[in-house]
Amino acid sequence: MSLRAIFFDIDDTLYSSTEFAGQAREKAVESMIARGLCAEKEDVLAELQQVVIEFGSNDSRHFDRLLNRLPQSAVGKVNPALLVMAGVISYHETKWKKLTIRPEAHGLLEDLSSTDLRLGIISAGLAGKQMEKVLRLGLDRFLDPQLLFITDQVGMAKTNPAFYAHAAEVAGFSTEEAMHVGDHPLKDVDSAKRAGMITVLHHGSGKYADLSGGLEPDYKINALNELREILNTKFGISL
Ligand SMILES: [Mg+2]
Repeated sequence: MSLRAIFFDIDDTLYSSTEFAGQAREKAVESMIARGLCAEKEDVLAELQQVVIEFGSNDSRHFDRLLNRLPQSAVGKVNPALLVMAGVISYHETKWKKLTIRPEAHGLLEDLSSTDLRLGIISAGLAGKQMEKVLRLGLDRFLDPQLLFITDQVGMAKTNPAFYAHAAEVAGFSTEEAMHVGDHPLKDVDSAKRAGMITVLHHGSGKYADLSGGLEPDYKINALNELREILNTKFGISL
């Protein structure tokens, strides 16, 4: 059976989201300290990290929660809303300024988009937030606009193989004709494989680098460029 479509995960697959979020949080905390937050940067960052773990990366009140958890003396007499906004502004400015797709990913997508393969996204998160990444990273130039699947919008989580089957169905192919590339051994590889897709684990430096899943991926790569050889030798697609 031939390969007809490739679906990519976004975060820590097409770009290093863990790395960029870390840099942005650091700038946010520096900005809050510059506006009067009285605490050690490392302590504030550690507490912020804990807030993100407890409330999830899509929570909209990370900095409010952070200030609530720090000792009262840290905020002192400064209006906490000023500190929150200083953090929010720096976070977003840093993130969008530094947010770029890896050059190798750009080149690969460009080459893939000139083949007959249909290219899509299967990603966890809020639809608006993930679409903003697609646009800001310039991914929309390469992707099929009908094949952007976000958990929040579809109403299924990545742990559900039916989410992956749905993507293949919309593309008009069987799951065996679709490849999925992602960095999460359980939510990406296990689910996509259970749905019947050809699975590629992108073993990068993201949050899930040390996790292992229940199923063995069909292929493992350390950089997206390694897909070129797999496509060439296993599927007869030369880029
Ligand atoms: Mg990911």
